[in-house]
Amino acid sequence: MSDPIAVYLHVPFCPSKCGYCDFNSYAMDGEIVERTVAAMVKEVNQSPHRGRPAKTVFFGGGTPTFIAAEQSRRLLEAVLSAHPPIEGCEITSEANPGTVDIPKFNELRSMGFNRISLGAQSFDTSDLIRLGRVHEASHIGRAVDAARSAGFHNLNLDLMFGLPGQSAAAWQRNLDLAMRIEPEHLSLYCLTIEPNTRYYRLHVRGMLDLPDDDVQTEMYDTACEVCDSRGYHQYEISNFAKPGKECRHNLCYWRGEEYVGYGPGAVGCVGPSGDRTRYTNTKHPDRYCQAVDSREGLWCDSEHLDKTTLRLERIMLGIRLNEGLPKDAVALDVATIEHLERKGLVEPGLSFVRLTTKGRHYCSDVALELA
Ligand code: SF4
Repeated sequence: MSDPIAVYLHVPFCPSKCGYCDFNSYAMDGEIVERTVAAMVKEVNQSPHRGRPAKTVFFGGGTPTFIAAEQSRRLLEAVLSAHPPIEGCEITSEANPGTVDIPKFNELRSMGFNRISLGAQSFDTSDLIRLGRVHEASHIGRAVDAARSAGFHNLNLDLMFGLPGQSAAAWQRNLDLAMRIEPEHLSLYCLTIEPNTRYYRLHVRGMLDLPDDDVQTEMYDTACEVCDSRGYHQYEISNFAKPGKECRHNLCYWRGEEYVGYGPGAVGCVGPSGDRTRYTNTKHPDRYCQAVDSREGLWCDSEHLDKTTLRLERIMLGIRLNEGLPKDAVALDVATIEHLERKGLVEPGLSFVRLTTKGRHYCSDVALELA
């Protein structure tokens, strides 16, 4: 039997577009949604990777919970029929707290989803309004209760820090509220300002009051301390989990494993090491549907990843992990490692390379030196 693979499905629709968002997402509803779902089912059924078992399945977006439960069911059925899940397969759906309720979670659970990743972002409604989110702070606790009552025992909360006008004390309050909810997993990211977003345009005009670098560093350190004190182990720069609850799907990305992507703008990375191709599906839902129907132009971008590129990416992603980088597997230079150890950026005396607490602030620099 062929090797199991991680499966990603991109649902590109959202109720509205958030000000900071540069994901492939569209504030569209109605006929195009159904047409896209039908095309995605078709893409999965036509996939050359059909038959490879799923080690993980992840519905991301966009907002997967924005589409009807019946549409999610058709998509998941197609995926699981093309990629029979391995024993204990992690099956995640991202969810927006403003688009879920108990019936929706019951439906997702009955289809086979066993993990929910909730895009909470902030427990402060004024932050959420500024971000352009459709939910309010009160929706977060309600969504968590609904997910729990539907039988989800593996729950992630996404929170962002470094938001406009956010103080270190306000971030600490967010962390305290997150701890009360007791999710199994936390993804804590600093807001980044991406080109082609409303936030970018405000930023270049000096109209975003962002916390400075020192405050952002303090916020990150606070997050690490709070998580550590509450039994969340930091297994990646921005990700914290209770024992055994690490996101297996994202670990596949960080470990440089294969994944297949379906849906508008989905990215896949397939093929044996040394002969791997990364592709991006056509992004706009309309053009994507045409491409699936005509069986032409499904990819808008693809590149062959040779051994050198794979090694570079393995270092850039793997150094983010607490499990560290195996020195031999990526042929790391001993003198460079010793230099980084002397600077206090990587831990000395290990058989692999792992960042220190200080090193986590310089992750990209360390990766570049190692590469
Ligand atoms: S909900 Fe997520 S994907 Fe949708 S617009 Fe907001 S940030 Fe982007």
